[in-house]
Amino acid sequence: MNDVTTDFGSLVFNDEVMRERLPKDTYRALKKTIDEGSDLDLSIANVVANAMKDWATEQGVTHFTHWFQPMTGVTAEKHDSFISPTPEGGIIMEFSGKELVKGEPDASSFPSGGLRATFEARGYTAWDPTSYAFIKDGILCIPTAFASYSGEALDKKTPLLRSMQALDKEAIRLLRLFGNTEASRVVSTVGPEQEYFLIDRSMYEQRRDLKYTNRTLFGAKPPKGQELDDHYFGALRPRVSEFMAELDRELWKLGILAKTKHNEVAPAQHELAPIYGQTNVATDHNQVTMEMMKRIALKHDLVCLLHEKPFAGINGSGKHNNWSVQTDTGENLMEPTSKPEENLQFLLVLAAVIEAVDKHQDLLRLSVASAGNDHRLGANEAPPAIISIYLGDVLTGVLEAVESYADYSSEDREELETGVQVLPNFQKDNTDRNRTSPFAFTGNKFEFRMLGSSLSVAGPNVVLNTILADQFREYADRLEKAERFDAEVLRIIREAYRNHKRIIFNGNNYSDEWVAEAEERGLLNLKSTADALPYFVRPENIALFERHGVFSEAEMRSRLEILLEEYCKTLQIEATTMLQMAKKSIIPAVAEYTSELADTINRKKQAVADVNVDTETSLLRELSNLLGSFYKAVETLDDKLIEAGRITDLEEAAHFYRDEIFQAMQEMRGLSDTMETMVSKKVWPWPTYGDILFSV
Ligand code: ADP
Ligand code: MG
Repeated sequence: MNDVTTDFGSLVFNDEVMRERLPKDTYRALKKTIDEGSDLDLSIANVVANAMKDWATEQGVTHFTHWFQPMTGVTAEKHDSFISPTPEGGIIMEFSGKELVKGEPDASSFPSGGLRATFEARGYTAWDPTSYAFIKDGILCIPTAFASYSGEALDKKTPLLRSMQALDKEAIRLLRLFGNTEASRVVSTVGPEQEYFLIDRSMYEQRRDLKYTNRTLFGAKPPKGQELDDHYFGALRPRVSEFMAELDRELWKLGILAKTKHNEVAPAQHELAPIYGQTNVATDHNQVTMEMMKRIALKHDLVCLLHEKPFAGINGSGKHNNWSVQTDTGENLMEPTSKPEENLQFLLVLAAVIEAVDKHQDLLRLSVASAGNDHRLGANEAPPAIISIYLGDVLTGVLEAVESYADYSSEDREELETGVQVLPNFQKDNTDRNRTSPFAFTGNKFEFRMLGSSLSVAGPNVVLNTILADQFREYADRLEKAERFDAEVLRIIREAYRNHKRIIFNGNNYSDEWVAEAEERGLLNLKSTADALPYFVRPENIALFERHGVFSEAEMRSRLEILLEEYCKTLQIEATTMLQMAKKSIIPAVAEYTSELADTINRKKQAVADVNVDTETSLLRELSNLLGSFYKAVETLDDKLIEAGRITDLEEAAHFYRDEIFQAMQEMRGLSDTMETMVSKKVWPWPTYGDILFSV
């Protein structure tokens, strides 16, 4: 077996390789671009491109691609070869700085939500030098952002980079006010915990629903589900551990620090967490991880399901977005240190998160909205659709103290003393880690837990970075004018806590009482994607994103259009697949079985005139009735789909899909699942839940 330490990052054009292969001044210039986000000179790009090509070709690579994340789909790539013809009729391997820095994919089939019609037809990809190039599947992949020629973002990465810039700017302002002159850059960091299912490939192949929609549209619950909880952290089965070992090895080569692996709550469900990194890099890495999971699974005759809810009634899959904000000098702004002066800064950051999350519940909620995630949010295993923050008792106590102190003192000096005095009691809250909270403080980071397993982490982090940047901006504006800095800091913390503490909830988020209490507190409860998405283009949200240069209004409207359309299309494909499965397989299967029953009854009666055929008769009657209802449900869904096709307004269509189509699908499913439990296994057209979940 190869040595992991030498293998690590062997497929990445990383800092070490650059330092080794680039002339000193080129390396320095590139490093400056990477660290400070400055523009890259074309002459430097030429040198870098050439070194990159040499490095790649030495490993047998002949093609490169600008690797990017369009608005839908996982990632996109178009392969070009390094080959250039020479005048003498031969070829040479070439890769120019221009090709490295800018690509022009044929973008016409990527969704632009009308942007390309309004602006410029072509799009281009631009290298994100802060995310290293890597070799995947024998191709040199260059992480890029994708925009239209007039600069509108057509991907998930451009706004993410913009939001990181905004956060950098406002955080540095705040740090300077605290006397920090050393930090020159602030970045957000992310460690996404990725859940997934592994099932047997032959089972998958037999299920049209899994193949077309990545989830089962029919299927009765198995007699043994996750009731025994014996899968959670249980021993890994050999096939699964072989898959995981290979996945780890491949991810390490790509410089992805895959760290933990264990079984999850549901049978056949697992989790992988990498060591966290800078948000744009972590986003790229998570996309690659999802791709590698799928690819490597196939090599083991397994299929990796990343859908949020592949099996009804069985735990779904999510992705926990662990998030913090750090300086280039290594300070984590979310780390509650023991020094009071620094804790004051920590408390202000904490106040900013609390205020930002409360003010922008809508954005956080809609950033995780998707057809797949609608099956989880609000259901029993996932956090509810209501945003709230878990702080733990200790931190909540500190903020309570800061808040209440104001009531019996007007002296700034005293305020300060007491504000600080409560801090040394602070201890890291490791004991009570509330698992039900959608947004939890976990020691030195926040964990946003509402993300679905297949979602790119880009969107939620665009929101997190931007709302925190905006809050930092407000505080910095105030503090820059303050006469007594520390007193003003305490005043801000107090006000933020007093005005926004309704968002803090340390109890059980899965309880019905919480839903009622949240309503009393006036918290948003946007139950579905159709409900949540339209909030995106509220005037205050457009103003927020424009203020920080993260999205223009046109970009936001186009994005909303793309997301609504994607939602409708997903449900449309699911409904169509269901209808096909019903007509081509379920109805014939049940009809066959009932006719077998009828034959049995007749034959038995012929043999013995007064034989007891009660069981067969009542089964025949019941199944025939169910089949009749099922057929009606099929007709209803058919009609509703036609109706949906006539709706031109996307928001209206989304609601129709949610309220009418989805309901009709549920109705159909319920009837089919009942019939499944009644007919012989022999006639049922595809593997059951039990077959699939316990197949590996
Ligand atoms: P748990 O299952 O207890 O939530 P895991 O260890 O599975 O925790 O995952 C925690 C994740 O959080 C890891 O990816 C880890 O690298 C990441 N993480 C830790 N500290 C930070 C931080 N400061 N910023 C972002 N992510 C972090
Ligand atoms: Mg977690």
